[in-house]
Amino acid sequence: MLDFVDLEADLDAEERMIRDTAREFVQQEVKPDIGEHFVEGTFPTDLITEMGEMGFYAPNLEGYGLPNVSERAYGLLMQELEAGDSGLRSMASVQGALVMYPIHAYGSEAQKEKWLPDMGTGEAVGCFGLTEPEHGSNPSAMETRAEKDGDEYVLNGAKTWITNSPIADVAIVWAKDRSDDDTVRGFLVETDRDGVSTNKIEEKLSLRASITGEIGLNDVRIPEENVLPGVKGMKGPLSCLTQARYGIAWGAVGAARDAFEEAREYATDREQFGKPIGKFQLQQEKLAEQATQITTSQLLVHRLSELKERGDLTPQQVSMAKRNNVRMAREMSRLAREQLGGNGISTDYSPMRHLANMETVYTYEGTHDIHTLVLGQELTGFAAYE
Ligand code: FAD
Repeated sequence: MLDFVDLEADLDAEERMIRDTAREFVQQEVKPDIGEHFVEGTFPTDLITEMGEMGFYAPNLEGYGLPNVSERAYGLLMQELEAGDSGLRSMASVQGALVMYPIHAYGSEAQKEKWLPDMGTGEAVGCFGLTEPEHGSNPSAMETRAEKDGDEYVLNGAKTWITNSPIADVAIVWAKDRSDDDTVRGFLVETDRDGVSTNKIEEKLSLRASITGEIGLNDVRIPEENVLPGVKGMKGPLSCLTQARYGIAWGAVGAARDAFEEAREYATDREQFGKPIGKFQLQQEKLAEQATQITTSQLLVHRLSELKERGDLTPQQVSMAKRNNVRMAREMSRLAREQLGGNGISTDYSPMRHLANMETVYTYEGTHDIHTLVLGQELTGFAAYE
């Protein structure tokens, strides 16, 4: 497995153990069927509780049965899951970073006790509803509204492109509170409440092994105690996205590495003109490029894990890593696909699946363009969004 600058040497015993456990899980439980799931457009739902039992959801959080592992261990886990498929890492990212994290950081004690243990084991599934049909890159323009009515809130609006909404037990819905100057708040909405619909989005051409849907909210009544008490404004959803993007920056490296390893193996096995294609300089150049790009992206996330561990990581640093590493994985999985010739477009090999997945990963959690503008603002002091 590619580790060109011996990053392995810096890992402690727990980090190695988590990495190895996740790698073995992906090898044994995911790889055999993931191509079929991708073709069928299904997620291996039987793995949801298995991943919970293995501690794959929010393991970097503390309390409520969560193991509080290092940020690097968490990153290594995301890397191994995405080497299996971006759908798998998305499951862990949404559950852990986008739902458990905000409950842990901003929830009431009752909310934490109700949801965190069950979500940690995968017995309850959560989703994160921020994007709307008319508001993606600019979520602060959201139209979903909450209106106070006695000790209840009434929610109306629509969210779309929501990972796991059709199978979720609870959605964190970000909405503007009409009774508080349209301030954005997070609402815990159980999906079996009257007025909630969660239609599945069919016929995706990317991230096919992941369930994606809408959330319709039609006069949905929730008790006041379902509001996340600890955060107001866009800081709520944006701070969750920073957590998830950190995991994505790690995960993308895993996807690129998996595509590279398939191309490297193919280059030694496949013969043309009487010799392995790996003996041709053009093929070596492609492998050298992939190994170099993967290694430099790995270095970036290893550094980020140190900053995160000591509480110094900034959203802009995460933007740089998400932007760079996902673009890297998109480009390198395409190079790997090329090297497999016609076989490269088959589900028997991973590069084309990773390449297709990267179109989603490039777009969600802040598009590549938006992260470019975040960096532009950091570098110049000028915001160029509008
Ligand atoms: P738009 O914002 O309409 O952007 C269209 C294009 O315009 C993009 O190329 C964008 O980069 C560009 N653009 C926009 N603004 C600017 C600007 N100021 N300057 C330059 N270019 C600009 N959302 C959730 O809330 N929860 C989820 O669980 C979730 N899961 C997802 C799963 C999948 C499979 C997908 C595809 C999306 C998911 N999303 C989720 C939504 C995702 O976050 C949005 O698609 C993303 O934020 C982009 O929004 P948009 O699709 O509306 O595109």
